[in-house]
Amino acid sequence: MIYPKIYLKPKKEESVLRLHPWIFSGAVARIDGQPEEGTVVEVFAADGRLLGVGHYQIGSIAVRLLAFDEVTIDHAFWLDRLRSAYNLRQMLGLDHAPENDTYRLVYGEGDRLPGLVIDMYADTAVMQAHSVGMHHARHDIATALRELLGDRLQAIYYKSDGTLPFKAALDHTDEYLLGRYTGGEHLATERGLRFGIDWLKGQKTGFFVDQRENRRLLEQYAGGRTVLNMFCYTGGFSVYAMRGGARAVHSVDSSSKAVSLTERNVALNFPNDDRHRAFAEDAFDYLRRAGNDYDLIILDPPAFAKHRDVLRNALQGYRKLNAAAFEKIRPGGILFTFSCSQVVSRNDFRLAVFTAAAQTRRHVRILHQLTQPADHPVSIYHPEGEYLKGLVLEVE
Ligand code: SAH
Repeated sequence: MIYPKIYLKPKKEESVLRLHPWIFSGAVARIDGQPEEGTVVEVFAADGRLLGVGHYQIGSIAVRLLAFDEVTIDHAFWLDRLRSAYNLRQMLGLDHAPENDTYRLVYGEGDRLPGLVIDMYADTAVMQAHSVGMHHARHDIATALRELLGDRLQAIYYKSDGTLPFKAALDHTDEYLLGRYTGGEHLATERGLRFGIDWLKGQKTGFFVDQRENRRLLEQYAGGRTVLNMFCYTGGFSVYAMRGGARAVHSVDSSSKAVSLTERNVALNFPNDDRHRAFAEDAFDYLRRAGNDYDLIILDPPAFAKHRDVLRNALQGYRKLNAAAFEKIRPGGILFTFSCSQVVSRNDFRLAVFTAAAQTRRHVRILHQLTQPADHPVSIYHPEGEYLKGLVLEVE
């Protein structure tokens, strides 16, 4: 296969030789031909050595490398990459109905498929492209995924309107690439708990798969406690807290749609259980008027910073939110606090929480430092893939 060629400036191949998959536009010396965004290109060092093959992009990242050698991006390529991603999830025991069938099958660079995310919900895959290259490849990927999973895959829903670069001006309508789910509410199982997943209307791919292991840890702390689950979305933490034997669980989200998803998921697993109540309210307002009864609080807000330039504001946001929780939590309470902003480093986040704690002068100890689960693997050469940070704190 002949692909358009991109030549780097002298010495700009160093990060690629260390297997980092991004080529920044400033590193490019010249481009043979006029590749369109999303085209597969070959990348060469200034001395003419082939460095890899990837998707061309317009923007600060010029190429996302799919491979560091000479390969053809064809059916065999997609099949091979997807198989290796699937093998990892099988090794992790995540495709294991009836106990668990909710997991991330592909996590971008961590699976050597930059720009692609696939979440599995029982027999349905929800696919998300973050690059035009992956958008163009979506049908090939769907074909390979079908071959890999056979009958255990009944539908593939492609949902990328919110994730593709807006400049690309594609007519990218979200749609089914395979099958079509028509059975009403779609249920999937995470660690033995049932969740209704709505990828059509829900945020992201419909569910936050990345908190699975952290929810399990929460379950172990929930026994006998009065739990406040802030930013509950589909109520994942709430349902685990219920199973863990919580005395009461209150879930809060500013979106009333999220509150009804939470109520539905609690009812699916714990019908007629009056320990749970949900509130559609702003988190800060709720915390302001909340009593001092909670002894287990979860703070899992949306990314406060999506870009570097708003980092300072984001850190203020984390500080204020955590300070409000430290003020309210009962002595001996446990706080699960998270940040999913990629641009907020582990240290930044810890500093924001530290500052919040110091403001209240309560004694606080770190019991666990949490991150994203193994189905969101981070390539050691691409630390940017790490985004989820959490602390479990005991507050005296
Ligand atoms: N903890 C959830 C994921 C949280 S996603 C899980 O485990 O699945 C973030 C949620 O915060 C979204 O549902 C969003 O509606 C909600 N949200 C955003 N801003 C908010 C605010 N100011 N107050 C309360 N909820 C908010």
